[in-house]
Amino acid sequence: MSPENSARLATQVIHEGYSPEPLAGCVAPPIYLSTTFAQEGVGGHKGYEYARTSNPTRGSLEKNMAALERGTGALAFASGMSAISTLIQIFDSPAHIIATSDIYGGTYRAFTQVFARHGFSFSFVDLSDEAAIKAAIRPETKLIFAETPTNPLMRITDIESLCTLAHSHGLKVCVDNTFMTPVLQRPLELGADFVVHSATKYLGGHSDVIGGILVFKHKEDLDKGKFVQKSVGAILSPFDSWLIMRGIKTLAVRMRAHQENAEKIARFLHSHPQVGKVCWPGLEDHPLHGVAAKQASGFGGMISFELKNGSPDQFLSHLKVFTLAESLGAVESLVCVPAKMTHASIPKEEREKNGVTDNLIRLSIGIEDSDDLIQDLKNGIEGE
Ligand code: PLP
Repeated sequence: MSPENSARLATQVIHEGYSPEPLAGCVAPPIYLSTTFAQEGVGGHKGYEYARTSNPTRGSLEKNMAALERGTGALAFASGMSAISTLIQIFDSPAHIIATSDIYGGTYRAFTQVFARHGFSFSFVDLSDEAAIKAAIRPETKLIFAETPTNPLMRITDIESLCTLAHSHGLKVCVDNTFMTPVLQRPLELGADFVVHSATKYLGGHSDVIGGILVFKHKEDLDKGKFVQKSVGAILSPFDSWLIMRGIKTLAVRMRAHQENAEKIARFLHSHPQVGKVCWPGLEDHPLHGVAAKQASGFGGMISFELKNGSPDQFLSHLKVFTLAESLGAVESLVCVPAKMTHASIPKEEREKNGVTDNLIRLSIGIEDSDDLIQDLKNGIEGE
C-alpha cells in the first residue's frame, strides 16, 4: 500500500509497511536481528549494509508511519527525545527556534539545557497568539515547534494558520503529534513540515516500549534526517520496532475507545461541584474547541483538571483503578501531577506563568470500563 492510495486509516494501521515475506509468508513481520548483511560483491547488497543505517524491521515501522502521517518518509528512534534531538540537529547553528510555551518538560529541558549549549536559542510562546509569534521571529529563526493539544493544559494551536504564518517568514513547522496520533490528526496535511512522536505513548500503547518517530514532508529534510540518524546513531532496536508496529495495528480501535471514555469522564468532571477547571478540547467551553473540531477527527484521551478544595495527594490516596505514574497513552488509565512529575524540570515561575499549577492533575484515560473509571475518580474527589 502507498500513501497516495485511498485506504482508510483503520486499514492502513494494519497493512502499511509490510506484506508477508517471500521465504515463509510470515503474516507477522519477522524481527531481523542481524547487524550486518551479506554482499555478493563490494557494494552489491539488497538495500541493507549495516543495521545502524537501516534494518528491515525498523524499515517496516518507518514505512507504516510515513504512510499514516502522509509523509515522504519517517525515521524511528530509541525515544521520543532522540527523535526531537535529531530534528534540531538537522538545522545548522546558530539558529533560533520558537516553541510552544506549554511544552513537555523533557523537551524544554533538552532545548534549554542541551541545545542551548550548542548554538541554538529558544523562545517559548503561546502559539495561539499570532502577534506573540510575529514578535518572537528573528532573522536567525528557522523552526516553530508546536504541541497541539499541549501537555498538560490541552491548549490548541490552529495548525493551518500557524503553517501559513511560518511559511510566509521562511520558517518550518514541526508538530508533536503524540497526543492525537495520525488516527485523529495529520499535521502534514495541514501544512506542517515535520511530525514527531513519542511512540512510547499511544503508538506503542501498552506501557512496554520507549521509542520515537520523526516524519518528514520533504525529501531533502528526510535525507538530512537519515544522515544525522546514521551518524549520531539513536536508532530503535528491531525488537522495539516490532513492538511498536504491533501496537499500531490496534491504534484505530484504541483511539476510539480512549476518547469515548475521555468524553464521559470530561463531562463527569465538568459537572462535579468540587472540580474547578477541566481541560479537554472536546468540551464546548474549551477556548479553541472549534479549531480542535476543525483540524482533528477527535479530541483525544488526555484530560487535566483542578480540584476546588483539597490537595492532589488526598485525591490520589483514594484511587484504585488509576495508577499514579508518568507517561500516557496506554491501555491502562494513569494519573499524574505534572508540576511535580512530568514538568518538574520547568522552573516553578515559568510553569505557573503558563498555568501549570501545583494542583493541576493530568489523566491519561485508558480503555477500561468507563463506569469503573468514573467511580474511581468520584471516590478520589469525594474522599471515599
Ligand atoms: N513529546 C511528548 C508530548 C511527550 O509527552 C513525551 C514524553 O512524555 C515526549 C515527547 C518524549 O518522549 P520519550 O519519553 O519517548 O522520549
